[in-house]
Amino acid sequence: MTDVRVRIAPSPTGPLHIGTARTALFNHLYARHMGGTFILRLEDTDVARSTEAFERDILDGLHGLGLEWDEGPGVAGRDERGPYGPYRQMARLPLYAAAAERLLAADLAYRCYCTPDDLEAERKRQDAAGEPSRYPGTCAALGPAERAALEAQGRSSALRFRVTPGVVAFDDIVRGHVEIDTSALGGDFVIVRADGTPLYHFTVVVDDAEMAITHVIRGEDHLSNTPKHILLFRALGHQVPAFAHLPLILNPDRTKMSKRKSQTAVDDYVAQGFIREALVNYLALLGWSTGTEEEILALDEIVARFDLSAVNRAGAVFDRERLEWMNGQWIRRLDPDDLADRLLPFLDADRILGRIDRLPSHDEVRAIVPLVQERLPTLGAIGDVAGFLFVAQPAVDPALVVPKRWDTATTADGLEAARAAIEANGEVAFDAEGLEATLRALAEVRGWKAGDLFMAIRVAVTGRTATPPLFETLVALGFGRTLARLVRARDLVRELDAPA
Ligand code: GLU
Ligand code: ZN
Repeated sequence: MTDVRVRIAPSPTGPLHIGTARTALFNHLYARHMGGTFILRLEDTDVARSTEAFERDILDGLHGLGLEWDEGPGVAGRDERGPYGPYRQMARLPLYAAAAERLLAADLAYRCYCTPDDLEAERKRQDAAGEPSRYPGTCAALGPAERAALEAQGRSSALRFRVTPGVVAFDDIVRGHVEIDTSALGGDFVIVRADGTPLYHFTVVVDDAEMAITHVIRGEDHLSNTPKHILLFRALGHQVPAFAHLPLILNPDRTKMSKRKSQTAVDDYVAQGFIREALVNYLALLGWSTGTEEEILALDEIVARFDLSAVNRAGAVFDRERLEWMNGQWIRRLDPDDLADRLLPFLDADRILGRIDRLPSHDEVRAIVPLVQERLPTLGAIGDVAGFLFVAQPAVDPALVVPKRWDTATTADGLEAARAAIEANGEVAFDAEGLEATLRALAEVRGWKAGDLFMAIRVAVTGRTATPPLFETLVALGFGRTLARLVRARDLVRELDAPA
């Protein structure tokens, strides 16, 4: 155990976002690699937009990815664990009030009586003059008598933090040396609104200071906030933590990842059958690499190899195709029983949507795992890959049954001949090897290309041109159903020729 303490601080104002999951993962990786502590804190001060449903979505989503936290709210209920609580900002309001009092008493912050109209007028003036907008310091030097006069008028006051002139410099673990002149920060900034609500820059620093956070690992979109945070850490008399700003996640067009252009909710990926092993592996590679060719890595392997200073600066494009590929790779690595278990909810969803007629048992699904395991980019693809097994009759387009080099008569003849040969073999000989031998011999005797015959049979019994291997598929379907589907398709193909 080291004293490394890292945290994520999501706001429960939306479902768990891919970017939040990636930030959580990198914090988790660093904490686990270093033997430190990973903390989850909820920034729920935006009362109007925060909901319990979003909170649950975030906690459940992180939990589902296997990113357990050591301190913070419990997964299911309200009970927290850890000695630095509370871990919800709304339960920490007295702590912010006390910190604000300290800054005020030390004159590191002051009361600002400007009304929204005053500030708006000043902004307009600066705009017209082509000046960058900044608080002009109207209330920075009010004396006690002036303050008393403003208060006598009934004016309420916000609290502003004094931004000291000079340069703030820090060594970001990812981005290297960063320097920002405090004149670029827009002047003294509000830390507590007139209605008493503490603002983000203030609460995040009070929390990080009081929770003894050693490393702030977060998205690059926060880089420009860091100088303000450093000034606040110093003013609160706290050691400044180390910072690591992770590269932005980008849409394929290299703009910042957005809901409009990419699927951003982790839930949606899970609902489509992306598995946690693949999501974690993929997210880890969004901004980090092992420096080798290795790319399929389990969470514990990533923990062992993770190095915060090896994180890239360049934005990382979210490439859904690559994620699908990686998901397929991970599905192949699952234990067959585990895969069968994970497929069942997706089959049940297909049943509810009427895509299949019945929910197969675990054993039935387990039996077809060898046929489908290498063919699933997602768990949700199971209906496409094997749904024909669980319907009374697949939808068969007779035109699709006819192979390119065949006409309808040959196709009907081929299906009938296949049916007769399979039936003649009998149910006892109904296995993949026997079927293949029988049907190849049939093609040979009739002078057909085996591929044409097989394609006609494939579409006849499944309705699809791409399926798991044909003979195994027929076995999975069973003797009786195979024969019945061949007869039905044969008749459908014959009807193609019937006069209209
Ligand atoms: N609520 C902020 C976010 O999720 C926290 C930022 C931070 O880590 O400082 O973006
Ligand atoms: Zn003011």
